Amino acid sequence: MDFEAVIGLEVHSELSTDTKIFCGCSTEFGGQPNTHVCPTCLGLPGALPRLNKKVVEYGIKAGLALNCSINKVCRMDRKNYFYPDCPKNYQITQDEIPVCHDGYIEIELDNGDKKKIGIERIHIEEDAGKLLHTDAGSLVDYNRAGVPLIEIVSKPDLRSPEEATKYLEKLKSILSSIEVSDCKMEQGSLRCDGNISVMPKGSLEFGVRSEIKNMNSFKALEKAFEYEYKRHVEAVKNGEELEQDTRRWDEAKGVTFAMRSKEKANDYRYFPEGDLVTLNISDEWIEEVRKSIPELPHEKAERFVKEFSIPKYDASVLTLTMDMAKFFEKVAVESKDAKAASNWLMGDISRLMNKNNMEVKDLKFNPSQLAELIKVINKGTISNNIGKKVLNSMFESGKDPKVIIEEKGLIQNNDEGEILEVVKKIMEENPKVVQDYKDGNKRVLGFFVGLVMKATKGKANPQIVNKIVNQEASKL
Ligand code: ADP
Ligand code: MG
Ligand code: ZN
Repeated sequence: MDFEAVIGLEVHSELSTDTKIFCGCSTEFGGQPNTHVCPTCLGLPGALPRLNKKVVEYGIKAGLALNCSINKVCRMDRKNYFYPDCPKNYQITQDEIPVCHDGYIEIELDNGDKKKIGIERIHIEEDAGKLLHTDAGSLVDYNRAGVPLIEIVSKPDLRSPEEATKYLEKLKSILSSIEVSDCKMEQGSLRCDGNISVMPKGSLEFGVRSEIKNMNSFKALEKAFEYEYKRHVEAVKNGEELEQDTRRWDEAKGVTFAMRSKEKANDYRYFPEGDLVTLNISDEWIEEVRKSIPELPHEKAERFVKEFSIPKYDASVLTLTMDMAKFFEKVAVESKDAKAASNWLMGDISRLMNKNNMEVKDLKFNPSQLAELIKVINKGTISNNIGKKVLNSMFESGKDPKVIIEEKGLIQNNDEGEILEVVKKIMEENPKVVQDYKDGNKRVLGFFVGLVMKATKGKANPQIVNKIVNQEASKL
């Protein structure tokens, strides 16, 4: 029997407001422990929450960008639990009536088909503090307590670990493009719980699910899902009873392990948060927020394909982040060679950025400078290969390509007379190879081209070198 996975994701995303959700403390990442705190986010007796309007605005903005409906009347609820990362002993969240519901994200499958993945709800809530377990005991830092979050809960519409990764990538690119979250996974701005079960292919009845908690890397989550998929299929095939459980992923061992089963699940005793009033969201406000949503990544990608005639694949890679998309568009317009712009950005530049752990905003050169590089290559001032060297220098120094070409004397030599002299000299210096050629070995022509390029320090125009080497060889 063939099986398929059923996957649903719960994604927590930290909102990039300046201040926390219920007080004026800074949301900045890091900082000395317990310096971004006040009586409210420390949960001291008598301190009352005040809801940050920006948090609701960002919640609505995320909802609209993810095709959700907005609950114009909604409220905050208390989720009670006892753990030192939560000083009030309850988290303020939204239980029964979330700010957004019933949206979707469209992903593209490998065969090119589009698939809509439902979003059940988006609610706003506060983050907890952070525990640090040391040899000297456990420490707690409340800088993160009260940082605003949205939780985006998908419907169980995903059917494989790869689909889950596609969904997450799309979600991340949308959230960061509308600037509600920086989505920095390494700083915990985007975290994910993954739910998975298996069922016979095409079945309508879902199996018993496992939930993998607190994943902060797409790759790790995909691996964890693959592991769970096999474990579940194995169990079903062997007729074992699976029980609904909550698990953790052990990256080093490549396995998941159970934390708790459903029977031991927490009872959070939700009830309405009495210290905050019901939220009434006006149509005018929703429309205002709607207007603030910029062109979304997939819309940009479609436009790039149309306007710049670049391949769909390029367009989808270039629009993964807004910074990259904007950079590309400027270079494409200024250089009038969109495919070259795309090749440089997706190739050498991405490689250099990855190697140096950098993002587009850290680049020392600007779009106009890259456009200039493309123009000098297209004009034949330098070859594409020399262009790579120039790019490396631009990457390190941020200098103009023209300045680098001047300083390093890299201008391409297009002088046929000069190149002919070099070709002749090299043939004279290598009589054995010439004899080889006369004996019928045509491949030595490449050897000559290589020697000419070396003798001219790569500056000779390769097309001209090729032409002249062939022309001189035919006279031998
Ligand atoms: P809970 O209240 O226990 O968190 P929810 O009903 O809110 O459960 O579901 C949480 C997530 O689990 C959602 O993303 C949902 O799509 C997913 N999910 C629900 N049932 C299944 C299932 N049988 N297999 C896989 N995922 C599931
Ligand atoms: Mg849940
Ligand atoms: Zn505070």
